[in-house]
Amino acid sequence: MISRSTDPFAAAPKVELHLHLEGAMPLDTLWDLMERYGGDPSVPTRAALAKHLTYTSFPHFIETWVWMNGFVRTYEDFEHVACGVAGELSRQNVIYAEASFSPTDFAVHGLDAREIAMAIRRGLDRVDGTQIVLNCDLVRDTGPARAGATLDAVVEVMADADIRGITIGGSEQAYPPGLFAEVYRRAQRSGLRLTAHAGEAAGPDSVRDALDRLGVERIGHGVRAVEDPDLLARLVAEQIPLEVCPTSNLCTGVVSDWSGHPVGTLLENGAFVTISSDDPTFFHTTLADELREVAHRFGEHPHGLTKRAVAASWMTADEKQVADRVVDQWWSSHRGGISDAG
Ligand SMILES: [Zn+2]
Repeated sequence: MISRSTDPFAAAPKVELHLHLEGAMPLDTLWDLMERYGGDPSVPTRAALAKHLTYTSFPHFIETWVWMNGFVRTYEDFEHVACGVAGELSRQNVIYAEASFSPTDFAVHGLDAREIAMAIRRGLDRVDGTQIVLNCDLVRDTGPARAGATLDAVVEVMADADIRGITIGGSEQAYPPGLFAEVYRRAQRSGLRLTAHAGEAAGPDSVRDALDRLGVERIGHGVRAVEDPDLLARLVAEQIPLEVCPTSNLCTGVVSDWSGHPVGTLLENGAFVTISSDDPTFFHTTLADELREVAHRFGEHPHGLTKRAVAASWMTADEKQVADRVVDQWWSSHRGGISDAG
């Protein structure tokens, strides 16, 4: 066994492509915010809070997400959350992360998408050690018109807030990709990179539509593509990067257990798999935990997975070169460090 202090999964430089800022806020940060806003009688202690973050289904997860959002009410709250997330990623040796944020969810508190983005940027910039760029989640559940309005707002601050891409999260079955085709075309014209949650709560058609109707460069999750051999063959042939978040799928009930997890099938078939943690606070995981599980259960080395994440990221060519060097150097001096991984 490897001791925690020398755990190479924790110590290695890592890259995270699919991380929701709100779902990555440290438990202590969430607890702070709850106390600030009078708490919730059904969650009286911090220990109860950890227990509260367990789910019976994908809709139950969304319900808890909405509950949590109720405690993020001001721009200062966003700055606090972003700073907490950046500190956590830096401690975990994540050298680069793409964090998505969902401004539409906070319009209820009268918050403007541009100001949210800038508050997040201020919070992220208070911590060194991890380069964090943003993806704006345009949120399916409020429909394409609202998504378009959010897009227009964030485009105004994309350079200042370092917003590099968009995604759509939320209720995949109720709001299929095709609804957002025009919004995605406009985002691309604005210079934003494109990904979308697909093949998570909904099946292969959702992945196909994200590719064909939204023109995405990557797929968020995509695990249910394994249900359709033709689609799987296409993903492999075109080497479409997949942002696979294994523990998330187990927690939301998309996948019933590790032994049947589609990430194994995707890897076996040569799909372009990258590994991320999605909402690590909600799913009681970290990127290191995810990479460890995938190494131990499916024999996939974290060095290769991290290199793939660099290649599929929204980094500039120069940033990729630097990240590749950091990752290669670390693994070349820690060769054999996970000889018990496979
Ligand atoms: Zn997600």
